Formats: sequence, C-alpha cells, structure tokens
Amino acid sequence: MQPVKLLLVEDEAQMARLLQRGLSEEGHQVDVCSRGEDALIQAANVSYDAIVLDWSLPDLDGVSVLRQWRESGLSTPVLMLTARGSTGEKVTGLRAGADDYLVKPFDFDELLARLEALARRGAGTNASAQLGSVSLDAKRRCLARSGAEVTLTAREFALANELWSHAGDVLSRSRLLSSVWGTDFDGLPNVVDVYVGYLRTKLSELGADDIEIAAVRGIGYRLRKVTQ
Ligand code: CA
Repeated sequence: MQPVKLLLVEDEAQMARLLQRGLSEEGHQVDVCSRGEDALIQAANVSYDAIVLDWSLPDLDGVSVLRQWRESGLSTPVLMLTARGSTGEKVTGLRAGADDYLVKPFDFDELLARLEALARRGAGTNASAQLGSVSLDAKRRCLARSGAEVTLTAREFALANELWSHAGDVLSRSRLLSSVWGTDFDGLPNVVDVYVGYLRTKLSELGADDIEIAAVRGIGYRLRKVTQ
C-alpha cells in the first residue's frame, strides 16, 4: 500500500494517540483533530486520501461534521467510528455520506484494511478529467492548462466535477442544484448561474479558448469544445 494522507477526528486522547501511532507505523501520514469545528477547517484546507471520523465529539457530532463536508462538495472517503452499533445509527451515518462504518471496540488491523481500501477507492475517483486543453484535477482541486492552474473552492469544484464528468451533455439547473447543493437547498435558483460565472472567469484566466460552459436556453448548461 502506498503511503496515504489521513485525517483522524477523535477527541479521546488515548485512542487518537494509539491510532495515530499505528497508522504512522504503516507509513501513513496522519493529522489529528479533536474537535468537529477544527476538522471542518482542516479538511477544507488540506487534501486527504481518507478521513476517520468519530461519531461523538465535544462540540459538533460526527454526523453533523460529515453532512457539512458533503454539502460543501468534499468527496474524500470517510470511515465513521462509533460506540453505537444499532442499525438505525449505521443508516444515519451512511445517509450522511459515510463510506464505511466501524463500531468500537474494533481491531486495528480491520480499521487499517478498510481505510486502505477506501483510500484506494478515493484515489480512483480523484483521477483528473480532461476536455480540450483544460483538465480538472480532483486531487489538487484546480483547473489546469499547459502548466498553469487556478484553484477552485469546494463548491466550484463540485460544479466543475459535474460538468467535466458529463462533458458534452446538457445538464439542467435543477440537476446541478441537487447534485452540487443538495436536495435541501433553499437559496436562490440562480446560484447555479452565479457559480457558472465564477468557473467561466477561471477558465478565461487560464486562457482556455477551446472549451466553454455554454448556456442552453431554458434548460441549463453544457461543457463543450468550441467549434472553430
Ligand atoms: Ca469520541
């Protein structure tokens, strides 16, 4: 297994120390947060291959942290740890966007195996997507063209990811709203247009003139090559 970069969110100091030491001994790089608020900031600023998230934290609970990550477009695989083993809570965790789930007490080797599987899966989905001269780099969360790159916010990235994953297809505003902002979004529907504007600005900063995010009147948008 290649060394991976992990975020461990766990407030119990002894548990955090044990896991950090065990994972480091396997060659992985591990950052630790003991509070939900810190974890939100940390994951927004650093790109991780996978996250271990404890359910019960002193400020925000793990499920709320996870929901906020997913709403902001963070797609990093998350394994939730919990002392609760009931099916209802497992479902809640998975619905909130967890990729896997482990009940305490657990075997370290099992955590390691599951985490490495998740990090591998994450690496697969982090492949960059290319259209024309511009690639969307999920690992670095940026748009890149001939050596230059512009960083995207989490939300811009989530929108770009939809467009690049379905290049050539017409995507409706409502589809983009639900996939990027979530079905419980209650803001203005023109938020899609606003963010498409941000992405267009970034494409022009890169000097990308061979692709465009074209408006499809009355429907939505389509990422396509410009026919010259
Ligand atoms: Ca805890």
